[in-house]
Amino acid sequence: MPQTRHLPLSPSSLGTTRTLTVHRFGTAGARPKVYLQAGLHADELPGLVVLQALLSRLQAAEQAGQITGEVVVVPVANPIGLDQHFQGQLLGRFETATGHNFNRRHLDPVKALLHRALPLMGEDPAENVAAARSVLRQEWLAAGGEDPHGRSEGDHLRHLLYGLAFDADLVLDLHCDWDAVMHTYTSTASWPQTAGVMRLLEAEAVLIAEESGGNPFDEALSLPWVRLASAAGERPVPMGCHSMTVELRGQTDISDSLATADADALLAVLTHWGALSGPQPELPAARCDATPLEAVDMVTAPAAGIIVYAGAVGSRVKAGDCLGWVVNPLGGDGISGSRVPFHSRTDGLIYGRLLQRLVRPGDTICKVAGDKPLAHRTGPLLTA
Ligand SMILES: [Zn+2]
Repeated sequence: MPQTRHLPLSPSSLGTTRTLTVHRFGTAGARPKVYLQAGLHADELPGLVVLQALLSRLQAAEQAGQITGEVVVVPVANPIGLDQHFQGQLLGRFETATGHNFNRRHLDPVKALLHRALPLMGEDPAENVAAARSVLRQEWLAAGGEDPHGRSEGDHLRHLLYGLAFDADLVLDLHCDWDAVMHTYTSTASWPQTAGVMRLLEAEAVLIAEESGGNPFDEALSLPWVRLASAAGERPVPMGCHSMTVELRGQTDISDSLATADADALLAVLTHWGALSGPQPELPAARCDATPLEAVDMVTAPAAGIIVYAGAVGSRVKAGDCLGWVVNPLGGDGISGSRVPFHSRTDGLIYGRLLQRLVRPGDTICKVAGDKPLAHRTGPLLTA
């Protein structure tokens, strides 16, 4: 049986307490450590069902003595967001009180790491990783560890999740997009070491960036290593944590068949990384190469109205292709209406787009993964 804990979150109101459930398989401290969580954006539910399917597989693997590393699973990473119902709609992406995105503003230990770990770096890569992890742990403990430490419920959640994941060799943060094909985000420094994971997940797009802005969970875990390695110069500092955001298709892509296939793929990832014993899984052919995030065309709505998309999500397009129209029934002469087209500025794959159809000017309505950085892509690389 896994070791299961229910960590109480800092109460946000009198008389209420939420808990974060954590399952640990294998031996604490064994390597490799793999950490998986689902639903940090609480309106993104496919991962919850996938991890539920994975848990029963892990339990069987544990009973068969196949867990050689440590596997930590948080199947419901955001019990706060799951409680955000407004007039029949589940919200779940932003904290109600502050408007902060649950997947931004995670712990940023870069400064402390550079200050305290850089002088400890020597010639041995493994020793450097161990020393830096030790500093990261000390920083996390000094900032309160599991104690709420006066934090809000949302910040306490962030701190607990960080404490569970920061020393993992591999982190898979399961999200989904609105209407999308399977795709992933990871650090440029984790590519191509994580290519096997992407192949096992059969990702249609792999988006890489060092820093997209706002300190999302995956970058809070990877960026300290990028910065430390860069500051250490000749002294070797490998990526101590390969973290990635896995977008399990769209919000409504939930079925037993998908959950079974995805849980099997995650189990294969765990074997591929050596956290489970057993024959190495065969890697499916890569479905794509990595795309720098600057090469993603985030197409925005040119007008207010109702979207009529051309083609399907997952289609390949050329620069200049019409992706659809924004229809305004009150436009034109008031009888014939108006249709404003929108186009791709790159050759590439439509990997994500909206589920809802009513849009305002400037809303992101379609994402196309190209292969060449786009000149207009400046500022934060992801939407809020
Ligand atoms: Zn998300």
